Amino acid sequence: MQPVKRAVFLDRDGVININRPHNVTSWQEFVFESGALSALARLAATDFSLVVVSNQSAIGRGQMTRAAVDEIHAQMLRAIERAGGRLDRIYYCPHAPQEQCACRKPSPEMLWRGRAELGVDLTQSFFIGDWIDDVRAARSAGVTPLLVRTGRGLAAQQEIERSALPPPLIFENLAAATEWIFKQTQAATK
Ligand SMILES: [Mg+2]
Ligand SMILES: [Zn+2]
Repeated sequence: MQPVKRAVFLDRDGVININRPHNVTSWQEFVFESGALSALARLAATDFSLVVVSNQSAIGRGQMTRAAVDEIHAQMLRAIERAGGRLDRIYYCPHAPQEQCACRKPSPEMLWRGRAELGVDLTQSFFIGDWIDDVRAARSAGVTPLLVRTGRGLAAQQEIERSALPPPLIFENLAAATEWIFKQTQAATK
């Protein structure tokens, strides 16, 4: 029997790196969340596909170029790899909300893309995010949502309480969410 392929989807801002109110516009402004690099290194030793799923509407708003975002991602990936981690895909939506694209979260489109490109079973996968739209995207795709309290997580928790959305599991940060996934799945670590 083929083992089930599964993924940990990760939002970027507020999960991997510290959120900035006016977007991370350069590598100089990119600061990893505490414990994020070691959590990613631990995840890298498992069979989970690791996929970043990020809204980068600063591009659609004309505040950043795609090249600038790609450069940040190249640097981010280098830092993650130097720390023993990996990322299998980095997906982002470059559109402003008013463009009404198909990919911007809460749309699950980027999660479906992960399924198409990596063959992962979404029902066996997790999405770690810090905003209600991350939780919505996960729920729409049948992925288990994990909300972290870093970034916009505290505000998200209040938004979710006011919404009809079933509450997600809530964790202090990426490291704690990762820890839970390990316990839950007994993922093999090297
Ligand atoms: Mg975020
Ligand atoms: Zn989009």
